[in-house]
Amino acid sequence: MTIVCKFGGSSLANSTQFQKVADIVREDPDRRYIIPSAPGKAQKSDQKVTDLLILLYNMAIHRLSANEVLQMIEARYREIIDGIGIRFPLEAELDRIRNTIADGRVEKAYVLSRGEYLNGKILAAYLGFDFVDAKDVIRFDDDGFWDADATYRSLAAMASEHENAVIPGFYGANDKGDIFTFSRGGSDLTGSIVAHGVGADLYENWTDVSGLLAADPSIVNSPAKIHSISYQELRELSYSGAKVMHDEAMFPVIEKNIPVVIKNTNAKDEDGSYILGSVPEEAGGADITGIACRKGFDVINIEKYRMNRDLAFHRKVLSVIEANDLYLEHMPSSIDSVSLVISGRYLKNKTEQVLAELQTFTNADRISLDHNIALITVVGRNMKNRIGMSALIFKALADAEVNIRVIVQGASEMNIIIGVLEAEAEKSVRAIYDAAFSDALSNGEDLEYTE
Ligand code: ASP
Repeated sequence: MTIVCKFGGSSLANSTQFQKVADIVREDPDRRYIIPSAPGKAQKSDQKVTDLLILLYNMAIHRLSANEVLQMIEARYREIIDGIGIRFPLEAELDRIRNTIADGRVEKAYVLSRGEYLNGKILAAYLGFDFVDAKDVIRFDDDGFWDADATYRSLAAMASEHENAVIPGFYGANDKGDIFTFSRGGSDLTGSIVAHGVGADLYENWTDVSGLLAADPSIVNSPAKIHSISYQELRELSYSGAKVMHDEAMFPVIEKNIPVVIKNTNAKDEDGSYILGSVPEEAGGADITGIACRKGFDVINIEKYRMNRDLAFHRKVLSVIEANDLYLEHMPSSIDSVSLVISGRYLKNKTEQVLAELQTFTNADRISLDHNIALITVVGRNMKNRIGMSALIFKALADAEVNIRVIVQGASEMNIIIGVLEAEAEKSVRAIYDAAFSDALSNGEDLEYTE
């Protein structure tokens, strides 16, 4: 059995956290390939080392002295090394970074990747595992795109040479050795790629919470924990605003159907949440797996009498969307109207132009625009087998006196999306959560809806 473990920044923020990580790894010899993030925050006031490295880079390109920032970074690693009691040539490693910067050869990705690189080297020394530099196994092409085939070949070769290894997260390199990073939080993705590449049986993602929650705890008081969730459900939830793993991190494990478990480094024996290709029926689970909310949408409403008789109507609308590089999230329609739900971020500077073009192309009777819409996504693989789920959601919102602006239900019946005014988003999430996670429902008993 082979387990790939990714430890996030808070799991490796200081020497105490390193000790917890070592205990976890040593507890199970199947934990063979370890992917560390850079030291993150042990407490709120801490700085993430990656943030310090970004600062370091920005100072370096403006030719400002970055000594103080380097000292802060050094202090973080010094505490770790002294606290876990290993010998490690920290000065030599930091000198290398310092010299690169002083040379004026400041490569952003190189500087940013040093947090994971140093953490990886220290963790490998502490665990007695081999250190495998991510630049040798996570491959990018010259344009900075991740190269899946080359990476998986390198990882297969790596696994045949190294029984155990620590491979830093977040970065890789092209053939020439130029470093490239993934976007922020990218160590999740490295872990998933390594799990695929070495053919792991399990990908453990260790963080500072005991799994996934059914709603955002800053909105809902102590939300229920999700025990098992399908890849698809998780993708819907994270796309809709739930902070779980890096957006792209699911793809490599999905391709090989490798289960993922989210576990808590600070409470290692607590059950985590399992993310599976498909959750077996026996696993049960609540009708609603989770609720997520994303703000910042605009809704363009186009009304035209007998719109549905005009075969070209939708094509004309979509051509305006395409020509203006807008991402269309949803497009609910009726016989005489269609609504376009678009991220406000993209529409912002083009609103007038887009509305004018829509008017010209469609010859609409009326076009109006709603700003500041929040989309609430209610996700649940079990929903399709249950009568009354929409009724439950809409009744909860009606009771909370929320006016629903948009409704979308995918044909998969795995999610119901509701658009409300941003100002009412939190209240709406709480209302749906309270209704959905009342005892009867979460126990999977029949829903009695009497009104
Ligand atoms: N250290 C990087 C970041 O802070 C990558 C990661 O932690 O996954 O984004």
